[in-house]
Amino acid sequence: MARRQGSPGTSKAKAPPPTCSPAGGQDEQGRFWPTDPGVCRTCGACCAYCRILLNWTEVDDFAPGGVPAAMTVPLGEHVRIMAGTEGPPGRCVALEGRIGHFVTCSIYDRRGSLCREFNPEHDDGSPNEMCDRARRAHGLPPLVRRPRGPARS
Ligand code: SF4
Ligand code: SF4
Repeated sequence: MARRQGSPGTSKAKAPPPTCSPAGGQDEQGRFWPTDPGVCRTCGACCAYCRILLNWTEVDDFAPGGVPAAMTVPLGEHVRIMAGTEGPPGRCVALEGRIGHFVTCSIYDRRGSLCREFNPEHDDGSPNEMCDRARRAHGLPPLVRRPRGPARS
């Protein structure tokens, strides 16, 4: 997850199953496409699926303003990992809110390079299979690719 911003969401005791309602659009089958980066605000699946590795130079005990060291765990001499994502079922300690509803990253402006580079699709418009796998793991439908040409709504 890379493009998420916003304030923390709240959870209710008996909320409905996870849903995903990005502001982008839908195709004829009702599948979503992430024309709006806000899709990540309604998801957060990758933050509770992947091991989030960091180079030690990204952490604020070396780089002021970097990823808070207190939110990381050492993994060898030169590598850190976001706490909570060391092993399944993992969830990054910086992730707030409810996956599939509304989430936010509490260190959005200080997140590591892996988080910044991870997006629903690659710059060339090709699928990000890891995004789809993370979403499936949380009961969310994979995102269809952004259609070329005029947007449909
Ligand atoms: S799994 Fe995909 S859609 Fe969900 S937050 Fe991560 S990048 Fe965004
Ligand atoms: S640091 Fe933020 S963007 Fe990165 S995995 Fe954690 S919650 Fe997600």
